[in-house]
Amino acid sequence: MILENTIDKAIGILGGTFDPIHHGHLRVAIELYERLDLAEVRLIPAARPPHRNFPAASAQLRLQMLQAAIVDTPGLIVDDRELHRSGPSYMVDTLSSLREEYPQRSLCLILGMDAFINLPQWYQWQRLITLAHLLVVHRLDTQIPSFSAMQDFLSLHQTNCATHLKKRLSGCIWIEPIPFLNISATQIRYLIAAGKNPRYLLPLAVLDLINTYQLYS
Ligand code: ATP
Repeated sequence: MILENTIDKAIGILGGTFDPIHHGHLRVAIELYERLDLAEVRLIPAARPPHRNFPAASAQLRLQMLQAAIVDTPGLIVDDRELHRSGPSYMVDTLSSLREEYPQRSLCLILGMDAFINLPQWYQWQRLITLAHLLVVHRLDTQIPSFSAMQDFLSLHQTNCATHLKKRLSGCIWIEPIPFLNISATQIRYLIAAGKNPRYLLPLAVLDLINTYQLYS
């Protein structure tokens, strides 16, 4: 569907476990918000991520850490809709609920290249692109793997025209090379468990909450 009225900017969506949120996540959100002129980027914590081990911190605490991380940051919003659903937190359900709420807005799901390559493992993955565009971020120094089973899917949907992201509600793949901060939540949990200091990998307000609730130790 082509939108006549493009006054409303596209909404960015960054889902994740955020166990805990760190500067890698936050830089991706800000870079895409600014580069693609998005209305906002919604950070959506998964209550029960279906594709991985259960998070170490509770959903409520991961939400609290997200809120502390983005406080007063223009363009970033925390969206807790997955915490109000029962069962596994499938992205297709999240996008469906956003689509119901915003029938006429372009929606852009942000994915790391690793997540994109593994997309066929996601529940009802082919529906994702009918509900949103996919914004795939990758390191400046890496190529899209030519062996990937996702090459056909990519050729079918890739666009280099930013107007498509604004004028269409869904259906396009946009590849965005970004400076990548080599930080992972796994590394932060590991450092804390080993009694080491993860400072400067994540916002201080998040580290304060981790210390207050003795998370990951
Ligand atoms: P874990 O180490 O526990 O797997 P993580 O740090 O990869 O966690 P997630 O919450 O699983 O964080 O990631 C959410 C989203 O953020 C995913 O799309 C992932 O590709 C992306 N992401 C994670 N870390 C980075 C980073 N350093 N730079 C850019 N994107 C990232």
